[in-house]
Amino acid sequence: MPALRQIDADAARRKLTFARDTGFHGEVKRRVLAYFARTGLPQRDNPRMFLKTAVLLVWFGASYALLVFVASNLWEGALLSLSLAFSMAGIGFGIQHDANHGAYSNHRAVNRVMGMTLDMLGASSYLWRFKHNLSHHTYTNLIGEDDDINFVPFARLSPAQPRYRLHRVQQFYLWALYWFLFPKWNFVDDFKSLTRARISGHPFPRPRGASAVELIAGKAVFITWAFLIPLLFHSWWIVLLFYAGASLVLGTTLAVVFMLAHCVEEAEFPDLPATDRLPRPWAVHQVQTTVDFARGNRLLTWYVGGLNFQIEHHLFPHICHVHYPRIAPIVQAACAEFGVRYAAHDSFRSALASHWRWLRRMGQTPLATAS
Ligand SMILES: [Zn+2]
Repeated sequence: MPALRQIDADAARRKLTFARDTGFHGEVKRRVLAYFARTGLPQRDNPRMFLKTAVLLVWFGASYALLVFVASNLWEGALLSLSLAFSMAGIGFGIQHDANHGAYSNHRAVNRVMGMTLDMLGASSYLWRFKHNLSHHTYTNLIGEDDDINFVPFARLSPAQPRYRLHRVQQFYLWALYWFLFPKWNFVDDFKSLTRARISGHPFPRPRGASAVELIAGKAVFITWAFLIPLLFHSWWIVLLFYAGASLVLGTTLAVVFMLAHCVEEAEFPDLPATDRLPRPWAVHQVQTTVDFARGNRLLTWYVGGLNFQIEHHLFPHICHVHYPRIAPIVQAACAEFGVRYAAHDSFRSALASHWRWLRRMGQTPLATAS
């Protein structure tokens, strides 16, 4: 098995391309565009999104203000930090994700401002656009290319990753590691990416001008509201305790929603080809490496920003997520006609169980029989 550094080096050297579309992508696009033409609905700048943005930001602001300025005991603090963490995850799913994909508005400036809600949460939206939009969305579930499935050496999420002894019990301990995702993002990952100017082996331009100011200002704003203001009113250990608690809830929520769409038994983890060309067209690759879940759960769909319709999101990342439930039957029918396997879990619970089984299988199955 190639060492991971070698995989990274390979990724840096070559640029993978996909096979030509054999009709599926063109047809599914045509049908979805026909849906918008028929209904007259705008793909972006949707009033439901403006209302959702207001609800999530008020939820966040109220939770924060009550936690820092009003809470008078640990129990009140614990409940409010739980509420704060869920509101932050909601902003991550429901505002910044669309905005940084350009799916929130037709106006670049609006997308940019709404995308900065991620900077407010302590992670650079500039870097996220390279990490998520390019690395994850183009090369989904390809080891060495998709940065989002790289938990090496702590976990093995794909048959192509090395398996260590500790992975035998990864289905039990991985949840605890999700705890560290948020602090790692705040204080490690962005700085590492900036120093290396690479994400998953792919070079990206370091931010300059307005982008650089935005990145620095974002980190400063986050440090101010998350640490400096609370430190004016509370002791350092209280501030740290609630940061740790909120990080646990936030990291787990973000990770689980991501994992249920890509790290389950039904999702494929294609091998890297010997040549620079992948055997399947891009749109087919997206559907095969992605799984929907709990599509009938309206509350969950609202909260996770339509990311339970991840197949639709991967095919149409520039369309606002409020439309995904209506687009899904169109996509599913096209998949059936073109022989593209479309996978969806009926409930959140069954997707979670599948994620658990996948982790167990990856931890216990040697490479040769893992796929
Ligand atoms: Zn996305």
